[in-house]
Order: sequence, then C-alpha cells, then structure tokens
Amino acid sequence: MPVISIYNRCNNKCIMCTNPDKFWNGNKKEFNLSFLLNRLDRFYQGEKEFLEIHRDSFSFTGGEPTLSPYLIPLIEKINALFYGKRVICLTNGRMFSYADYAKRILQLGINLELAIAIHGHNSKIHDSITRTAKSFVQTTKGLHNIFRFKKKNHTIEIRVVMHQLNYKFLEKITRFIKKEFPSIDRLVFIFFEIEGQACKNIKAIKVTYSQLLPYIEKIRTFLHYFPEVRFYHFPLCVLPTKFYPYVWRTLPDREVSFLNNCRGCNLKQFCLGVHKGYLKYVGDSEFKPIKRKINIQEGCNWHHPILKVNP
Ligand code: SF4
Repeated sequence: MPVISIYNRCNNKCIMCTNPDKFWNGNKKEFNLSFLLNRLDRFYQGEKEFLEIHRDSFSFTGGEPTLSPYLIPLIEKINALFYGKRVICLTNGRMFSYADYAKRILQLGINLELAIAIHGHNSKIHDSITRTAKSFVQTTKGLHNIFRFKKKNHTIEIRVVMHQLNYKFLEKITRFIKKEFPSIDRLVFIFFEIEGQACKNIKAIKVTYSQLLPYIEKIRTFLHYFPEVRFYHFPLCVLPTKFYPYVWRTLPDREVSFLNNCRGCNLKQFCLGVHKGYLKYVGDSEFKPIKRKINIQEGCNWHHPILKVNP
C-alpha cells in the first residue's frame, strides 16, 4: 500500500514520535494540494511503488492527517481514480471529537479504515505521553463519535504503542479498550520504534522486549474478546510460540537487520528481524536462534507469516 504523509503538523507532541525534528519545519511543497493530487495521478499512471507493492489501499499519515485541509479532496480523488480502494488514516482521533467533522468524514461513502492510537487507560497516562492536556478526553470522545457514525464499509482499529511510560499498564489499557470500545474491528500492540523523536527521548521511554514480556503474558486472556489482534515490531525469538499467530511484519527491509546468530534460526524465514534502532540503543543480547522444531501453519501473506502453531 502506498503510505503518504499528507501533513507536517500535529496537535499532539508524543514522546515516542518517529518523525525527525526537521519534519515539522516550514510549509513544504509536498503537503500542498496540487503536489498531493499530482502524486495520486502518478500512482494512477502506474508509479513503480504502487505497481510493485499492494494495490489494495492507500495509507495517509502525517503529522496528523485529519488536520490537513486537504484530507477530503484527497479521499475524493482516490475514490475517483481507484473506486473502491481502501483509505487508511493513521490518526490521534482528536478531530473526531467534533461530531460534525466525524459525520462529514464517515459520510464520504468510501472504504475507510481509521487507526487510532490510545496510549493509556486514563488522562494521566495518555496525556503524559502525548504531552498534550485533554488529548485523552478528545481521543476517546472522537472514538465514541466514530462509532456513532460508522458504517459497514468502515474498519476501526485501536493501536497501543508500548514503551517505558505505559507498558506496566498494558492490562489496564486492554481492559479499558474492551469495556469502552467493545465494537472495534482490530486491536494492534506495537513495540515502539526507536527513530525520530524516540531516539532523542530514549532514556524516558526505553523498555526491552524482556521487560515487556510479563505484561504481554498478562493480556493474553483478553485477546479473544477482539475480532482481530496484531503485534507489530516483534522478532519471533522474544515471544513464546503461543503469540506467533498475532505477529505481523510491517517494517521495511531497510529498517531491520538479521544478526549472525539468526543464520542458525529455524524460523528466520518467518521473522521480521530486529529494528536497527533497537540494536543501536538497546543491543542484541535478547535475540537467540530458535533451534527446536516448531510445527507451524504458514500464511500466504508475507506480512502475516504464521497462522497457527500446531501442538
Ligand atoms: S534469532 Fe533472528 S531470525 Fe530467529 S527469531 Fe530471533 S531475530 Fe528472528
């Protein structure tokens, strides 16, 4: 799917944001309407990226894409050029706290997927991560408005990015989501990516896979409540096999490495590898080749390599 950053402003200041400092500066031409519309035309004409990678959807990111004054014209353009294609919007959800806005976007008649980040189960945790007062109240109100206007062709995903400031509350966050938003289509747990602002703030947010694991174990009994659960950014050897069916590969090759150790690993062909930022800021001591035979059922989607672990 083509991933298109449509705006370089955000109303949150998330401590683990992966955008670099210079991303936020100035009015850049790549966020003008004419430039963005042109980009979509080039996809239509067969730009390499679009032809080679998945053709099923477009993904809008930012900054915060809902702050872009061009979100609606861009969605309309996609609908005109690629009728029926899914538009995925990665958002903090705050704009949807305005009911009129939520209604306008959800009445556009497109296959829309909204992926909304929740960082905590209360304002204290969430707002300390977004470093923005009232962001929790707006995001949760936004989600409630989305469910008010949601139609059948809409998919609602909640994302939890895990790091030092929230990993110990994972169970509470999962319970909160289950109670407050029982109709979500997908819940995604993301191990934080160490790049951009996250490098600068690494001392405040650093957590290791080993530290996180006991808290992942605690949420296991809740996972079946959700129609779909995914884990992003997990090398297989840091997880017990029971979690493998949740693991998705979503990072590009250029951002991950395989270690010398990995050569002897039975599951290397199904593994994401290790994010380069993690190797630089945390190290490689946790990654051990899987030598035993594990009977898995392979998926046919490269991004979701393991469907089931057989006993
Ligand atoms: S040893 Fe390497 S290939 Fe094997 S699961 Fe770990 S990171 Fe992946």
